Amino acid sequence: MAPSSLGSQERPLRVAVVGSGPSGFYAVQALFKAVDLHARVDMFDRLPTPFGLVRGGVAPDHQKIKSVTRIYEELARDARFRFFGGVMLGRDVQVADLAAHYDQIVYAVGNESDRKLGVPGEDLAGVHSATAFVGWYNAHPDYLDQRFELDRAHTVAVVGNGNVAMDVARVLLKDPSALADTDIADYALDALRKSTVREVVLLGRRGPAQAAFSPKEMEEIAALDDVDVVIDPDDATLDPLSAAWIETQPRSAQRNVKLLQELAAKGEGSARKKLRCRFLVAPVELRGSDGRVEVVAVEHSHLVADDRGTPRPKGLGEVSEVPAQMVLKAVGYRGVPIPGVPFDGRAGIIPNRDGRVLASPEGAVVAGQYVVGWAKRGPTGLIGTNSPDSVATVQEMLKDLAGKTAAPLLPGEREAVPRLLAQRGVACVTWDDWRRLDAHEQARGRDKGKVRDKVYRLDEMLRLARGQGGNRDAEVEGHA
Ligand code: NAP
Repeated sequence: MAPSSLGSQERPLRVAVVGSGPSGFYAVQALFKAVDLHARVDMFDRLPTPFGLVRGGVAPDHQKIKSVTRIYEELARDARFRFFGGVMLGRDVQVADLAAHYDQIVYAVGNESDRKLGVPGEDLAGVHSATAFVGWYNAHPDYLDQRFELDRAHTVAVVGNGNVAMDVARVLLKDPSALADTDIADYALDALRKSTVREVVLLGRRGPAQAAFSPKEMEEIAALDDVDVVIDPDDATLDPLSAAWIETQPRSAQRNVKLLQELAAKGEGSARKKLRCRFLVAPVELRGSDGRVEVVAVEHSHLVADDRGTPRPKGLGEVSEVPAQMVLKAVGYRGVPIPGVPFDGRAGIIPNRDGRVLASPEGAVVAGQYVVGWAKRGPTGLIGTNSPDSVATVQEMLKDLAGKTAAPLLPGEREAVPRLLAQRGVACVTWDDWRRLDAHEQARGRDKGKVRDKVYRLDEMLRLARGQGGNRDAEVEGHA
């Protein structure tokens, strides 16, 4: 048979999306919405569960944010969509396998690691990445072995003041009973109930005008019972450089400063727990004894404009100590290399131009390979930011289809990938399997008065996804 246009009814476009977080699903949405395009999408995830950071990153007390998954579920119900959970690129399938079975590949793999501080003492006991703490309380299977000795700490220093810092500060300070009906991991709730943490110190290396959190997040902590947000009024005062610079910034930066100044005016307060916000302090060393952290040594800074006029911290040489029995580094995420996929080790992302993958940061376009989300632009923006970002990549994918033809697909072609995975013995989770596990988690949650009780061991996830869960399963089948 003669070749047909790629993306036509006669020869649908076959796309592999690697990663099932927001950016992956927004790419699926853009493909399904594209006018006159006939496309099928197979989505792969190394975990048996979908939704990436919505499941493993968004805080348990932010259930409203998680409700975005309803949009993704609707996309997954489309007959053109299939899910292959528990399939890891570079381990179970290789880029060459995907290239053999799909016309285009979209990497939606996010940033799975964290940035390092690069100061002495980072390996002391009690020093963790906020990424690990978040993964741990969210029952992410990668972080089950982590131990956070919340019953040994009075003060936790959090390095950085972005929204991840705010999430971990809130979870540490909030009354644990207010988390009990969420989908927090049961072991994390137990540990929080035994916690002796009474103070969280946020360490910002720049000033209040450059604080990276959203005003809503600070308001949420300030509204907590039993918690005072404490800021030295001098720290909340803008230096002349920031006062001029903030006029050019989004309104949220101005709201942050106003809020911080209002909170500073309230003084120490009488609540039992404190969130102390420090500014213009950058950790230079983590110090301790017997291998356990006790102190964060911080260098005081002032701000100087870089060549674009952005205020940057410059050390003043004066160092002071912040006592802390636990340190969480919330200084941003970073991508990890995947075998066979180009990686920009400096930026921690997949090198690309407008979403087209490049062989190296300055290299040639790798035909048929694209990237979306944090793997494309780095760890910035909220969940919704990924929608226009994925649309933009899909537009480039569609441009690349112009004039392309392809031979017709062979009968039974759609079964080739499931067959390949079965031959390799990959225990793969379909969307129906996930829905069974999802129903199980929700039913177990109802029993415990929680919105969901997450399963976190991979073998148990697979067992339950396949309907091999024992008595509870018969009941759950009814919900699936
Ligand atoms: P982020 O917003 O980029 O914040 C990172 C923080 O770490 C900044 O304060 C940064 O300061 C600081 N930092 C970086 N390197 C440092 C160093 N070497 N020493 C000291 N401080 C350092 O990153 P994030 O908090 O990980 O959040 C990632 C993205 O997810 C953000 O877009 C965030 O808004 C989003 N998010 C949203 C929510 C929500 O909506 N509730 C929750 C979590 C995450 P500088 O500004 O000086 O670089």
